[in-house]
Amino acid sequence: MTQQNVVVSDTKPRIKRAVSVAQKPVTVPGRYIQYSYPRSRRVLKNLEINGEQRINSWVDSMRASSPTHAKSTLSLAEEQYTSWILRHPSALDMFEQIVDASQGKQIVMFLDYDGTLSPIVNDPDCAYMSDSMRKTVRNLARCFPTSIVTGRCIEKVYNFVQLAELYYAGSHGMDIKGPSKSFKFNKDKKSEEVLFQPASELLPLIAEVYQELVEKTKSTVGARVENNKFCASVHFRCVDEKKWSELAQQVRSVLKEYPKLRLTQGRKVLEVRPTIKWDKGKALEFLLQSLGFANSSDVFPIYIGDDKTDEDAFKKLIDRGQGLGILVSKFPKETSASYSLQEPNEASIISLFHRLLHHHS
Ligand SMILES: [Mg+2]
Repeated sequence: MTQQNVVVSDTKPRIKRAVSVAQKPVTVPGRYIQYSYPRSRRVLKNLEINGEQRINSWVDSMRASSPTHAKSTLSLAEEQYTSWILRHPSALDMFEQIVDASQGKQIVMFLDYDGTLSPIVNDPDCAYMSDSMRKTVRNLARCFPTSIVTGRCIEKVYNFVQLAELYYAGSHGMDIKGPSKSFKFNKDKKSEEVLFQPASELLPLIAEVYQELVEKTKSTVGARVENNKFCASVHFRCVDEKKWSELAQQVRSVLKEYPKLRLTQGRKVLEVRPTIKWDKGKALEFLLQSLGFANSSDVFPIYIGDDKTDEDAFKKLIDRGQGLGILVSKFPKETSASYSLQEPNEASIISLFHRLLHHHS
């Protein structure tokens, strides 16, 4: 019962999914819900010692006095969480395995912004990043090439992050900029500010659709349209759930006039973006290429994100057989990320960064 979680290992350059050979509880102090058997089961386990007859009488008594439906729902949720966390263990718990897998390789960091470096807040204009997070990301960027990969436009995310040493892939990777020359890892490259804008010809169209979305959704209380340059985001964090279908109808009615644009969904946000096949995964690949790691096996990309759009990047890492994805989530979620970090995320993300920095120095 005391065996450790193990990672099926590093004969290939990528970390495979963690495989648990025993039920080791997750032991991040104060972060994870410690799994304990539901009380009824513990009682049963103890009772087994005393023979079957007594178990039956206990179970009868439990049935008579307990809200069994609520209990079974709770235990199901606990079991789901336990089974999920075994498949996607905490990146902090698996730190030694991360270090082993990245040995001799260049770590490259890819970080989502909202819900990863900053908390999810009601007003998207107030999704501030803390000073301690900023300081840690700055230190991280001194050791490893570091990129912000976000749905927001570069200008907005830069206002929050304010670090010139980073790469920025804004608008879901449709607008990519590198750091100024003095911060570049790859100093041979020319310091062109704009690296890539695969949908630049659609900029006027997005500006137009943004205006129409503002107009069309203004009757829905709480709806908020954000112009993210290469995509228009309709936030519904503050919209009453009863009005969600009305809002979806409004967005759809605008979208049907624009065959070059499509709708995607994130956490409390509908997003209208170009139909081109470009996403955070493609952005990750493009950035690795521009850092000179296109065909290299000596690179170890780490991508941290919390949303559906980050799944494209997690999948890309699996396709490449390199590095690993870390999903920030409070709840079990279907994901292609290998590992997880529990929300509230700031302390656990800063802790992971500190450990990476400490190990690197
Ligand atoms: Mg996010």
